[in-house]
Amino acid sequence: MDVSHLLDELNDAQREAVTAEDGHVLVLAGAGSGKTRVLVHRIAWLIQVHHLSPMSLLAVTFTNKAAGEMRSRVGQLLGLRPDGLWIGTFHGICHRILRMHSKEAGLPETFQILDSEDQYRLIRRVIRDMELDEGEYPARQMQGLINYHKDEGRRPENIEAFDNPHALTQVDIYRNYEDYCRRSGLVDFAELLLRTLELLRDNDARRKQYQDRFGHVLIDEFQDTNKLQYALVRLIAGQRARLFVVGDDDQSIYGWRGARVENVSDFARDFDPAMIRLEQNYRSTATILEAANRVISHNDERMGKNLWTEGQQGEPIRVFSAFSAEEEAEFVVARIRDWLEAGGAATEAAVLYRSNAQSRLFEHQLLAEGIPYRVYGGQRFFERAEIKDAMSYLRLVHNGDDDPAFERVVNVPARGIGERTVAGIREQARSDGQSLFAAARQMVTAGALSARAGNAVGQFLDLIDRLDERTREAGLGEMMAAVVETADLATWYRKREAPDRAETREENLTELIRAAETFAQPLEDEQAGLSPLASFLAQAALEAGEHQGEKWQDCVQLMTLHSAKGLEFPLVFMAGMEEGLFPHQKSTEEPGRLSEERRLCYVGMTRAMQRLYLTYAESRQLYGRTGTTYPSRFLSELPEELTEMVRPRIQHATGGGFGPRSGDAGAGLGFDLGSTVSHERFGIGTVVNVEGSGDNARVQINFEQAGPKWLVLSYANLERLD
Ligand code: ATP
Ligand code: MG
Repeated sequence: MDVSHLLDELNDAQREAVTAEDGHVLVLAGAGSGKTRVLVHRIAWLIQVHHLSPMSLLAVTFTNKAAGEMRSRVGQLLGLRPDGLWIGTFHGICHRILRMHSKEAGLPETFQILDSEDQYRLIRRVIRDMELDEGEYPARQMQGLINYHKDEGRRPENIEAFDNPHALTQVDIYRNYEDYCRRSGLVDFAELLLRTLELLRDNDARRKQYQDRFGHVLIDEFQDTNKLQYALVRLIAGQRARLFVVGDDDQSIYGWRGARVENVSDFARDFDPAMIRLEQNYRSTATILEAANRVISHNDERMGKNLWTEGQQGEPIRVFSAFSAEEEAEFVVARIRDWLEAGGAATEAAVLYRSNAQSRLFEHQLLAEGIPYRVYGGQRFFERAEIKDAMSYLRLVHNGDDDPAFERVVNVPARGIGERTVAGIREQARSDGQSLFAAARQMVTAGALSARAGNAVGQFLDLIDRLDERTREAGLGEMMAAVVETADLATWYRKREAPDRAETREENLTELIRAAETFAQPLEDEQAGLSPLASFLAQAALEAGEHQGEKWQDCVQLMTLHSAKGLEFPLVFMAGMEEGLFPHQKSTEEPGRLSEERRLCYVGMTRAMQRLYLTYAESRQLYGRTGTTYPSRFLSELPEELTEMVRPRIQHATGGGFGPRSGDAGAGLGFDLGSTVSHERFGIGTVVNVEGSGDNARVQINFEQAGPKWLVLSYANLERLD
């Protein structure tokens, strides 16, 4: 058989990794050196050359999107669909295992995944039920703490609280939250992993089943695995499976979420793998690569790597300093326009930023210019209110014990069920240790509610029952359509909201029905005995954010630096290169975090193939107030000979460099270009131009709310803010 296509277009080191014969392998290599490519080729190699069944391979990636791409790449290489091959995220894979063995894992068959927002609400509910001071026990903080304990593999009974009353109460909250989840058949993200770990650890038959099944376990982006994930890998691998692990310590960016880059060295110690280094970068121009290497060299405690390229020197990296965040967005979109006019595609351009909120101005500007775009993350499709409402109905039909779903839609659309009635139902549910749905049913039957409330609640229960009957034999699309229709959500939004908003919600509901209709259940899920509904609900919870926008449409890609991991684009913008924003404020307060921000910068820069822009704004509204900003320290870590300051629009400005700019034209008047001022009527703005002198002096100010305006200085009565 000719298998040369599996090895063509691989360099020697890559080939060595793909064809490694015995033992475990660790590929430790820098960005763009072909780690993911090697992993994909290895899967194909094992199937085609070693004639392994796809079922005996387990591949783990970081996002569902990456998993999808990997699957199709393997398919292309093999010329057939690798059915039975498990490729997924840790969460996706654990979900499948738990579904297959829900009983042994101590879960109801219809358990539901609790997404992060639901989890937060539920924890808040628990804290309120315990009548605790929410200032002293903020739900957000408790959410972080609970997830942290789970990621470390700790149940409430494993936590040492040292008789500290505060810590003891926190443990109580954790315990009550767990009880609640158990009663309602809910599983949060961290629980998916912990539960699977416990199942495989404590159940010999299950452990053996998976250890026998998977002869090879391959993991991408290993540097961002947490303690629990590594423990899982060890359990699944057992004594027999061969591990193939690829990663880059310089791209470890999830430490704040419990990822342990130490897993890389632990793996090297625990498994004694063959170490393979890939040193040639195939992605970026020499300029981009060298600049990225220089920035990351400011970190210590690196494992150390060489990375070189045969690629072109390429264009210099361009740095642009904008007066305001608005101008920054204008600049970026104008450069995207240039790119499109020169024949580039929109999907080739990516705007990367540190925090989701930054997307708004870019969206605004792209909309104004009529350039299609797609935002990853942020307000995700499956997180939108109308989608969550509709999905909650579906969840309730699927599992009546799903309390968060009950709470969400019991009075949506409004049917006269007040907070007092719900509180009564909650009380009853708690004292009987049953679900809200069951308690409600019981109270209605027993006539324990006032006539009006009883009637309203009865209607709601009937609605769910009716849906249950109507959809029992239905396909997924039909089911979704029935939910949207029966619950009559559209009318409800139309009644309550502005027409355009209600219309968007309706469109989204239609899109949801379409998503359900076209949902193709992964064969591996079907083989695992999952119902299409269970797969769909899990996908909604796990793959939120990956469904947005028209997939096939050519659009500009907007995403956070974190979600850009593993991807590559010919044209990249890194926006908001400012101290406090990037590196993030928090990172200057905690040790180790600054290095992580620098790695994030390295990740961002190494996404770029041909052209890279770094931009910042000299004033920006941040954390609710407008202020002058300072250029990110990462800018000063760039080699000067590889960068080029893009001339600002206003030619008065002096000097290059990254210091705050001070203009000369208006200096005598006390209003430097770029300074922040306040105007009685127009509010806060930035001085972007100065003309004339004396009584005739005029300034152009870019107001945050009112936009750009020319004002005569002697009348304007401006106040300097910085
Ligand atoms: P990251 O660290 O960012 O995840 P990576 O190490 O996984 O990067 P890949 O995404 O696998 O790198 O590869 C980067 C780019 O280089 C891809 O476009 C890939 O197709 C290409 N590439 C990798 N190896 C070769 C090769 N031997 N010949 C040609 N192109 C290659
Ligand atoms: Mg990769």
